[in-house]
Amino acid sequence: MSILVLGGAGYIGSHTVDQLIQRGYDVAVVDSLVTGHQGAINQKARFYQGDIRDKDFMRTVFQQEDVTGVIHFAAFSIVPESMQAPLKYFDNNTYGMTALLEVMNEFDVKRIVFSSTAATYGEPKSIPIKESDPQLPTNPYGESKLMMETMMKWADKAYGIKFVALRYFNVVGAKPDGSIGEDHHPETHLLPIVLQVAAGKRDQLSIFGDDYDTPDGTNVRDYVHVLDLADAHILAFEYLADGHDSNAFNLGSSTGFSNMEIVEAARKVTGKAIPLEMAPRRAGDPSTLIAASDKARETLGWAPKYDNMEAIIETAWNWHLNHPNGYADR
Ligand code: NAD
Ligand code: UDP
Repeated sequence: MSILVLGGAGYIGSHTVDQLIQRGYDVAVVDSLVTGHQGAINQKARFYQGDIRDKDFMRTVFQQEDVTGVIHFAAFSIVPESMQAPLKYFDNNTYGMTALLEVMNEFDVKRIVFSSTAATYGEPKSIPIKESDPQLPTNPYGESKLMMETMMKWADKAYGIKFVALRYFNVVGAKPDGSIGEDHHPETHLLPIVLQVAAGKRDQLSIFGDDYDTPDGTNVRDYVHVLDLADAHILAFEYLADGHDSNAFNLGSSTGFSNMEIVEAARKVTGKAIPLEMAPRRAGDPSTLIAASDKARETLGWAPKYDNMEAIIETAWNWHLNHPNGYADR
C-alpha cells in the first residue's frame, strides 16, 4: 500500500516525502516538475512525471500503485501572479482537483490530505484566525484553494472521500542537514529572498510597506518550520486512516513576526548586513496574519518542535550555504 504524494518534488512536498520514508511509509510521487526539482525527491520514492490534470496519466499511476491515500501539494501558489493570470490558477489548481477526485473515485481511494492556505481567509476580522472564521479570499490563488476545499466537501458527501484541509501560514526552513530546501524560480517569499541577499546572490531587499498598523509598521506573519509541517501531514494522514471524519486545521506557530524582525533575526544568524530599502505596499497583503493552531495540536496531537526563529533560519541558511544555486548544484 503506497501513499501517493502529488507535488512531491516541490519545497514542502519533498520534505514530507522524506519524512514519510524515514517513518517507514511506502511512497510514490507524481510531479510535472513545472516548479519542482527531481533532485529533491528522496530516491526511495517511486517517481512518475506527469500532470495531475491528465486523467489518463493519473489512471496509469493508480493502476500501478496500490494507493491507500493521497497527499496533494501540486498547485501554483504565487499571489501576485494569480492577480495577473487568474485563469492559470483555476485551471491548474481548481481543475486539477476535479480531475484528481474523479480518478480517486474511479479507483475507490477514499483519503486525501490537502495543502490549503491562510489565503483562503482573506483579510481577517480578528486575530488569531480560527478555522471557523469566514473564508473570504482577496486573490485568485486563495479563491482557487477555497474552491478546492469546497469540491472535497461535496465529493465527501457524494462519494465518501474523506479529506483533511491543512491551512498553512508562512512555511520556512529546510531539513537541518542541508540536503533539501526551498528553491523557487522566481523566488517571491520573504525569508529565502533575505538569505539570497545575505549570500550575495541579490544586492538588496525591498520591504513592502512600513506604514501598516503593526508595532514597527511592517507586516506581521506566522512562521512554521517545513519539518513541523511535514509532521502535521503524516498526523493528518493517520487521522484519516484511523477512520475520523473530514476536517480542516490551521498550521501556524500562533506567534507573529514582523518583516523587520525576520530581517533582524537573519542578520544575527548569518552575520551579514543584509541591506534593504523600504518599498510601497504589495497589493493584497493583509496587515497581520496569525493562526490559532490549538485545534491541530489538540485533535491531531501536533507538537511543533521549532519555536525559535533563529534556529529556524539557521536550517534555511544551511541549505543556502550548501546549495547557493539551489538544485542546479546537484
Ligand atoms: P512548490 O511550487 O515548491 O511545489 C509544488 C509542486 O507541485 C512542484 O513540484 C510542481 O512541479 C508541482 N505541480 C504543480 N502543478 C502540478 C500539476 N498540475 N501536476 C503535477 N505537478 C504539479 O510549492 P510549495 O511551496 O512546496 O507549496 C506546496 C503547496 O503548499 C502548494 O499547493 C501551496 O499552495 C501550498 N502552500 C504553500 C505555502 C508556502 O509558504 N510555501 C503556504 C501556504 C500554502
Ligand atoms: N515581503 C517583502 N519583501 C519581499 C518579499 C516579501 O517585504 O521581497 C513581505 C510581504 O509583503 C509580506 C511578508 O514579506 O508582508 C511575507 O511575504 P511572503 O511572500 O513570504 O508570504 P505571504 O505572507 O505573502 O504568504
